[in-house]
Amino acid sequence: MRNQYDIIVSGGGLVGSILALAAAREKLNILVFDSVKPSRIPPFNGRAYALSLSSCRLLAALELKEFIETHSQDIHSIHISDGLSRASSPSLRFESSEIDVGPMARMVEDRHLRSVVKREIQNHANFIRVINTRITELELNAFGVKVKDTNGRSYRASMVAGCDGRDSIVARKAAIRFSQYNYAQSAIACAVEHERDHHGCARQIFLPSGPLAILPLQGRVSSLVWTVGQDEASRLEKMNHHEFLKQLRIPMGSILGDLSLVGDRFFFPLTQRIAKILVTERAALVGESAHIIHPLAGQSLNLGFRDAASLAQILGSAARRGEDIGLKTVLERYQRWRRFDVNLFAFATDSFDWLYSNSNPILYTLRKGGMDAVKRLPALRGVFIREAAGLNGQLPKIMMG
Ligand SMILES: Cc1cc2nc3c(=O)[nH]c(=O)nc-3n(C[C@H](O)[C@H](O)[C@H](O)COP(=O)(O)OP(=O)(O)OC[C@H]3O[C@@H](n4cnc5c(N)ncnc54)[C@H](O)[C@@H]3O)c2cc1C
Repeated sequence: MRNQYDIIVSGGGLVGSILALAAAREKLNILVFDSVKPSRIPPFNGRAYALSLSSCRLLAALELKEFIETHSQDIHSIHISDGLSRASSPSLRFESSEIDVGPMARMVEDRHLRSVVKREIQNHANFIRVINTRITELELNAFGVKVKDTNGRSYRASMVAGCDGRDSIVARKAAIRFSQYNYAQSAIACAVEHERDHHGCARQIFLPSGPLAILPLQGRVSSLVWTVGQDEASRLEKMNHHEFLKQLRIPMGSILGDLSLVGDRFFFPLTQRIAKILVTERAALVGESAHIIHPLAGQSLNLGFRDAASLAQILGSAARRGEDIGLKTVLERYQRWRRFDVNLFAFATDSFDWLYSNSNPILYTLRKGGMDAVKRLPALRGVFIREAAGLNGQLPKIMMG
């Protein structure tokens, strides 16, 4: 069995698996390390993602079209309101039909997406090999990359892609530094079953303590991401399901009728953490190892997928030209492409959080004026809808459909 590859992928989570599949399409040889083995699909645990139209196109190009069509719920409209969900709250509504290219986004459950991408890389016939252990040692030098796994075996490649999340061994060994701060907020992710139909409408309710996103899943089930202050989160975490639901009904009102919880509740403190550089000689950071942003726009995974598709495209073109794909000059093309998008996104989510997560009357007037302008100006509406669909900016070819 070979031990020299084009790319070593550290971390076969969602982003690492998509990178491996996209790079295999470019005929690069890939070795993926991840200690989490694929298993049978577990029961629904409440975690789900809004995949933008461009992410869905990426999955379709990676032969996962049937999966998307079977396991997702289309988002037909987005409803944004300022304050508790009452008829009098200032609000905005966007319809997928306004851009005429299909649903802006689709919701998928984490358990389905994770198991299908893991299965795809595990069973890949030609270009991908998966080793279910962790990387414990990593050496970057002028000629390539050498890693050792938990079993003490060594492997070499031209470059390493760090898709290994918040505690990335690649970021550590490449001495990449981060700018980081903690929001005084936590997010609660969970799912609810409800009495009324959601009609494929994704709702974002901006409350003084933070936004509540209500995202439609298949059937009468919705995924929620509820951002609250840290003290409030500790209080909610201690509550049993019944008491928690009572609190949740306050911002949700009666829009979806009676509610019951499905699966678990996940509480996580919110941080923004952005890598100051995305690449060094022989190493690139991809997905959450490079950026953790506020979940209010639900775009973290879409950003990671865009990173993965961009890197695969750049490495594929460089390899076809006969370039050494681990050279910093090659990897810097990826950095130039992705850094602006990531920083812009982090800035935008931050600004929205600041503008909306308070009850200051001056900011309320500003928000209302902004919403009125978006309502009246079709060009501005188009920008918002295209953003939700992940169609703004320079897209990798594989995400263009
Ligand atoms: C509760 C919760 C809810 C969320 N909800 C949303 C949402 O609604 N929408 C959205 O877009 N995003 C959401 N996110 C964020 C989303 O989960 C992440 O963007 C996404 O999982 C990042 O994927 P990743 O592959 O970059 O990193 P990870 O999912 O962290 O994967 C990293 C992988 O690397 C492996 N690894 C780590 N170290 C090593 C090593 N040394 N060797 C080998 N392997 C290693 C790990 O085993 C893991 O599989 C949520 C996150 C949380 C925690």
